[in-house]
Amino acid sequence: MLDQLKCLIEYQKVEDKKNQLIRSYEESPRRIAELEKEFEDFEGQYLSKKEEYDNAKKTHRSVEQQIEDLRARLGRQKTRQGEVKTNKEYQAIIKEIDETKKDISRSEDSVLELMDRIERLGGEVAELEKDLAERRRKLDEDKSVLEREGEELKGRLDRLEGIRQLVRERVTPELLKKTDLLFQKQAGIAVSAVENGVCKVCHMNIPPQKFIELQRDEDIMQCPHCHRFLYWPGHEGYCVSEDDIDSI
Ligand SMILES: [Zn+2]
Repeated sequence: MLDQLKCLIEYQKVEDKKNQLIRSYEESPRRIAELEKEFEDFEGQYLSKKEEYDNAKKTHRSVEQQIEDLRARLGRQKTRQGEVKTNKEYQAIIKEIDETKKDISRSEDSVLELMDRIERLGGEVAELEKDLAERRRKLDEDKSVLEREGEELKGRLDRLEGIRQLVRERVTPELLKKTDLLFQKQAGIAVSAVENGVCKVCHMNIPPQKFIELQRDEDIMQCPHCHRFLYWPGHEGYCVSEDDIDSI
């Protein structure tokens, strides 16, 4: 087993883990924003229903005021009715009284409708209010879970960075330079396994002679196509698991 190659494989595993943790870490704020947006949408629904309810109550008050005014007018008209002198005036005041009575009756009908509407809207607003409070509680709870997870991930990333430094220290400077360049240029993958004569990352065939050399495990080799460092997982020494990384 080539010690340097084993270090490179470990380095790759550490980088993979690091990238995976970073992705999860970045997921938290995105998820929190999504939950907040969901809550705000619901709050918007509640507020517009509440506005509808408040407007109905306002209209109710103004129609009640109208009825009061109409009744006062009716009173005045009835007084005038007793004071009229001619038949013509009498017919005219009777007509006015009739109109006012019709107006009162129309307004009373709309008060009944409004009261029904206010009752229905009041029930809906109360339901939404309850739901909103529950959603606010759930949002706070979910947010604190996600924030805690974010902190925990941050801690794991810090610990992993320590491990990463230890692995890097074990790699020779020349090899480290090449590896870091590959990480940069080859989408964060500098090391690849070869299975059945194929580079597992770029999926190209390794020439049979090269594959035999790789299995002999005498020198560090690079893929002739993608230039990544190659190893053959048939050598047990190169099988690095996540547990190994945690214990590095
Ligand atoms: Zn390759």
